[in-house]
Formats: sequence, C-alpha cells, structure tokens
Amino acid sequence: MYHEGLGSRFMREDVAIVGAGPAGAWAACRLARSGARVALFDPSHPREKACGGGVTGRALALVGDALAPDAFPRTIVRAARFTSVERRHTSTMADADGESATVALDDDALVVASRAAFDAALVDAAVRAGARLIRARVTDLTIDAQGATLLTTAGRVTAAIVVGADGANSLVRRRVALPFRRDELSIATGFYAHGATSREIVVELTGDPPGYIWSFPRPDHLAIGICAQADAGVGAAALRARTRAWIDRTGIARSARLAPYSWPIPSLPASAYDALPLAGERWALVGDAAGLVDPITREGIFFALRSADALAATLANGGRPTACIEPIRDELTSELARAARLKAGFLRPAFVRLLLRALDQSAAVRSVMTDLIAGRQNYATLKWRLIKTLEVRLAWRALGA
Ligand SMILES: Cc1cc2nc3c(=O)[nH]c(=O)nc-3n(C[C@H](O)[C@H](O)[C@H](O)COP(=O)(O)OP(=O)(O)OC[C@H]3O[C@@H](n4cnc5c(N)ncnc54)[C@H](O)[C@@H]3O)c2cc1C
Repeated sequence: MYHEGLGSRFMREDVAIVGAGPAGAWAACRLARSGARVALFDPSHPREKACGGGVTGRALALVGDALAPDAFPRTIVRAARFTSVERRHTSTMADADGESATVALDDDALVVASRAAFDAALVDAAVRAGARLIRARVTDLTIDAQGATLLTTAGRVTAAIVVGADGANSLVRRRVALPFRRDELSIATGFYAHGATSREIVVELTGDPPGYIWSFPRPDHLAIGICAQADAGVGAAALRARTRAWIDRTGIARSARLAPYSWPIPSLPASAYDALPLAGERWALVGDAAGLVDPITREGIFFALRSADALAATLANGGRPTACIEPIRDELTSELARAARLKAGFLRPAFVRLLLRALDQSAAVRSVMTDLIAGRQNYATLKWRLIKTLEVRLAWRALGA
C-alpha cells in the first residue's frame, strides 16, 4: 500500500482499515500482531460513541490478552432488573406481583464502560501491536482487481485490501453493496445522565413499539436509552421524549445532567443474513458495517470483535478476504438469524409477562438469563434449556407460537 500526502515518504502496507471502533481497532491489532502492515483510519478519537457501553463477558474474553484489567474504567454489573411497562400500576420500579424481576450477575457476566475509554484502549492496543493510526476521514474509495484506492482527508492511499469497519453508516459498505434499508435498522436514542451511577442495569420491555428502555451504569454516569425498529412508525424525537418521561417517572437519574444522543443500530430481519455482503477479493466488512448486531439485545461489540478476529485469522493465514465468509456464517450470522426469527416472540407482551413471572419465581430461569446476558447461552440451545426449566413452559409456548 502506498500513502501519498501522509508524510514525506511513501509507505508500503497491506491492509487499510476504515474506522477505529471495536471492529477496526481489533482487526488492526490482530493483523499487526501477525506481522501485517496496517493503516487504521479514523479522525474521531478521543470520542464517545452512542452506546450503552455494555461489554459482555464473552466480548471481554476476546480482548482480555490485549487489555490489562486497568486499561479502561468499568463498572462490574451486579444485577439486571427487568420491568414491563404494560403491567405497571405504580410509579416505582420495584413493582410487586411479577411486574419486575431482578437477576444477580456474577463477576464475569457484564461490565459497562464509556466507549471513549473502551475504544481508546483498543486503539492503544492496535498501535502498540504496530498498526498506524491515521487521524483522517476516508471520503471515497474505489476497488479493482489490484486493490483499493482511498481518498482521505490526509491524501490518496492505495491498499491491497480495504476493511470497512466504519459503523452503521459505512461508506465502504455503500461502495461494495447497498446501504442498510430502513427495515434493517433500529433507532437508538436517549441520554447520558452525568452524576448518577449504580451497579445494576435496568431494562424495561415496551410493547408499543416493540423494544426496550435501558439504563446502563458506567463508572461516572448512566447511559439511558430506548431502541425500536426504524420502520415501526415512531421517530427519534418521540422515542427520546419517552426516555425522558421514563427517567422522570422512575427517578433513576435525579439531579443528573442529561446529554442527548441518537444513533442507528443494524437490526436485520432473518431473511437478510443469507445474502449478507461480508467480503470480496479485495475487501471485507466487519462489525456494524457488516450488519453483525444481535437484533433482539442489540449487542454489537462482541460481534464487532469476533468478526474482526475471523477476518484477521483468515488474512494472517494467507487467505483472501472471501475465506472469512464461511467461519463468520457458521458462527455469527447463523446465530443472529436465529435471534431475528425469535425476536417477535421475545417482545410480545404475553411472553414478557410470563418471562418476568418466571424470572421472579425460578432460580433456574434466572440462571439462564444470567448466561444470556453474559453471552454464555446461545439462541441455538436456548429453547431446550428453557424447556428443561419447567416454570417457563408457558413462556416457551408463547415464544414458539
Ligand atoms: C444507543 C446504542 C446502544 C448500544 N448499546 C450497546 C451495548 O450496550 N453493548 C453492545 O455490545 N453494543 C451496543 N450497541 C451496539 C454497538 O455500539 C455497536 O455494535 C459497535 O459500536 C460496533 O462497533 P464497530 O467497530 O463496528 O463500529 P463503531 O463503533 O460505530 O465504530 C465505527 C468507527 O468508524 C469511524 N468512521 C466512520 N466513518 C468513517 C470514515 N469515513 N473514515 C474514517 N473513520 C470512519 C467512526 O468515527 C467510528 O469510530 C449499541 C448501539 C447504540 C447505537
């Protein structure tokens, strides 16, 4: 790869990565460690990224060898409280008679961090591994049989392989495939509540539109938000107003300073996963740019890191980018398609009611939920594990209907 306008010398490298979120930074780290010459383009750091900041145990395990325990400040979450707005009769969150249920979490289940801190730690790891961070925006690119040509705010660059790790609005995706359609996106919007924090996450499942409101405790603030499918007929302003009303009603962030945010999340229907554009001879997409987000929970950090892993392992072994398609399909998109098929059932009010009751009454169901939150329970075996917990038979019937 040759950089023009990035310094006084031309540099030859192997991979240009567009975007230094978790997907791009981790791909850069893994590739640089394997000896590749890597340029990582992103003008935004240091920056916050609209996100809950929930990093599941399975996500943290992927980067554990690159990030020291003190690499980024985190809250180790002790409990997850689930509530349902449909059955709420009082203004407190601790409603009785099964309308709210709390699940205890172990040390390895979930941490919550500011994305400014978490992403910076990953970028540091990439740079320490030998990747070059170029603080420039990629403004356009073309790809041919020889490689990719990138136009950036720091000049023109050619690369053997380009990786699109540039998030939900990915420019690389728009050049190699179509952008996400409206029915393939969620709107996520809410507030950072500065000056309030906690050791528990709160998730309120909402029926109209189907989705949920959450509060995730970062070390010095709460990330509070709501998400709903973008084609559900409710815009970002109305959703944010609902979040504001929830904050007021629950009193979860009294006297905190609220800073608003909004950002799309890829949330694909099951049918989209078969034809997901993941890689070509000279390009690959990872993370949000590829659409790899759990459409139920909207967990994306694990999938960003894991898709970066799969691509880096493929390239490090001398494979073409297309060789990473099969492992990503086998492990990730099959699981995400399963989630998409279960989604309508999960968010149905009848199921939510049964689930909350079961969580309240059954230690076995709480244990399944702890593992789901940590990423230790996949959707493939969820049905059988739930069926074995006799308390949730009814719930499973609703889910499978
Ligand atoms: C409100 C909200 C809450 C969420 N909560 C959670 C959660 O709690 N846990 C979880 O696991 N997931 C969560 N997600 C999803 C998660 O944020 C994403 O899945 C994750 O950030 C994807 O990582 P990524 O590296 O693919 O993309 P991103 O994190 O979006 O990073 C993309 C990077 O590319 C850069 N970039 C973009 N365009 C260009 C360009 N042209 N040139 C150079 N750089 C460019 C951007 O500056 C950015 O740094 C949430 C998402 C939202 C919106």
